[in-house]
Amino acid sequence: MLSADNRYGDVLATEVSPADGPFRCPACQKPVILKQGHIKISHFAHVPDAVCPYNSVGESEEHRSIKLEIRRQLLRISGVTDVRLERYLREVRPDISFVLNGILVAIEIQLSRLSRSKIKWRTEVYARKNIAVLWMPLFSMEPFQKRYAPKDWERYVHGLYFGKVYYWSEGLKLQPVKFEDYMLTSGMYPGKRYSKDFVTPSLLPPVLITDLTARWRKQWRDFPRAKLWCEPWNS
Ligand SMILES: [Zn+2]
Repeated sequence: MLSADNRYGDVLATEVSPADGPFRCPACQKPVILKQGHIKISHFAHVPDAVCPYNSVGESEEHRSIKLEIRRQLLRISGVTDVRLERYLREVRPDISFVLNGILVAIEIQLSRLSRSKIKWRTEVYARKNIAVLWMPLFSMEPFQKRYAPKDWERYVHGLYFGKVYYWSEGLKLQPVKFEDYMLTSGMYPGKRYSKDFVTPSLLPPVLITDLTARWRKQWRDFPRAKLWCEPWNS
């Protein structure tokens, strides 16, 4: 993890020195070790075998660098305040959070391949806390060619966000993708048949994280009542 508490409050591993310690995990209150070097991005680590829901063993360099990149970009936008990494909110700890137009926004970078039930549960928690959430996987052009086989959680996020997934591409830029039906062209079956596994990805015009707005949705089928950070109704 990139943030921990010291005697003054929460600090970033990239902005402190060992003399600013000791450092504690905000969740379990146990001491964490500041890891600074030349190869990996500076971060905090629990002692081995520490029992903590935020013992982020195996957090990738990619995940850390994206968090820092988005934070850097958000800090430059006027009107955006209270930019924090890994803000501790008890049941949840969003990768990045900030306030825009009086709305607290949480970004969950979807790298760890959470299950749909975990996504659902955290989405419910954010709604209860009146926080707008953006579930954000990473964009790469390669899989989005002619046909694409979305993972279960991607289909879930697509449904949750009214038929769109907001993939992160760079800086504050998101690539919204809509999954359209993929038609099977097998000559074995008469008439039109649509694939259950594949979709035709449709790349929509990019948007910025800070262009989005909060939108509530009611509980429906497998989707909980949610406060989503996404485009407004008319777009
Ligand atoms: Zn901890």
